[in-house]
Amino acid sequence: MRKIQMVDLQTQYQAIKPDIDAGILQVIESAAFVKGQKVADFQQHMEAHLQVRHVIPVGNGTDALQIALMALGLKPGDEVITPTFTFIATAEVVALLHLTPVVVDVEWGTMNMDIAALKRAITPRTKAIVPVHLFGQCANMEAIMEIAAEHGLYVVEDACQAIDAEYTFSDGSVKKAGCIGHIGCTSFFPSKNLGCYGDGGAIFTDSDTLAESMRAIANHGMVVRYHHDRVGVNSRLDSIQAAVLDAKLPHLKDYTARRQAAAAVYDNAFRNNPHLLIPDRLSASTHVYHQYTLRLQGVDREWLRQQLADNGIPTMVYYPVPLHLQKAYYDPRYKAGDFPVAERLAQSVLSLPMHTELDEEQLEYITTHVNALTLSGK
Ligand SMILES: *Cc1c(COP(=O)(O)O)cnc(C)c1O
Repeated sequence: MRKIQMVDLQTQYQAIKPDIDAGILQVIESAAFVKGQKVADFQQHMEAHLQVRHVIPVGNGTDALQIALMALGLKPGDEVITPTFTFIATAEVVALLHLTPVVVDVEWGTMNMDIAALKRAITPRTKAIVPVHLFGQCANMEAIMEIAAEHGLYVVEDACQAIDAEYTFSDGSVKKAGCIGHIGCTSFFPSKNLGCYGDGGAIFTDSDTLAESMRAIANHGMVVRYHHDRVGVNSRLDSIQAAVLDAKLPHLKDYTARRQAAAAVYDNAFRNNPHLLIPDRLSASTHVYHQYTLRLQGVDREWLRQQLADNGIPTMVYYPVPLHLQKAYYDPRYKAGDFPVAERLAQSVLSLPMHTELDEEQLEYITTHVNALTLSGK
């Protein structure tokens, strides 16, 4: 059996090596390392793939979020609502811009933003909502868009874990994750569902005005060369990364299907195990399984992780500490116990190996061990 990894990028690369190598070589030979043709090609292919007017390639997913918020013209102290159970980047950019992060609890089943909590968190200072499509399934975007419209708020989707997830509205219209709110952000970090071989990210929007602002912000606030109309940053996807992404994009549909197939094996194996709760699914959204995350009940998580590791099965805890309990984000308004669902998730979640190259033998080995250990009574 091949060694089990949380993410197996080597095996994935071997299957598409000629295309990747040729793309990278072209960039090296052209010497157009920054803002080269490959970046323009990838941008265009991505726009067509997502059916969105503008894709703005940037340096990474965190920059994408920062640039998106910079484009909204918010003022220090304006409140931005985000779930407390997420990766730190979501709140980090809010804090860096001297905006006020307001965190809300999540749902126990989908682990995404709780809509009732979102409604309660809105104040006259609220300017934007940043929903996170955690682990690859969309948050309840229909409700979020309705609430945003009602209160005149921007919605910036953190779709870093959910590229290609599809959301179906009650009128039957279907949109891709990141293309629902005013702006969507994604990351091409190597382990993401569409990953490059270094850092990368992109911003999506259907708004020409926002797109123009964000392109300028990502390029030192410059529209006409060496004329700077606003304070910007330097954030770009480099041509080598664009070449990797352009070679991988045609495989994205298949990659998603493979993740979903692996998740179906996990679901079936764990559904009747009283110690394991499989992730809830929203009927409106597909799930692209950036992570396959179980919630443990009556099992010592550290013991289980150690036993699995001893048997060659890596696991991860995404995320052990919610935002409101992170030292850097200490806020006297919040204390332990304020967001009970997120706090309980932080104690009980366990993510299993999930990637495009898991084979039957590996899945059988993982599910057998997880079931045997959790049912052993420890
Ligand atoms: C990965 C990730 C980011 C940041 O992406 P980088 O490219 O690593 O900067 C932001 N939010 C979420 C939810 C992520 O998973």
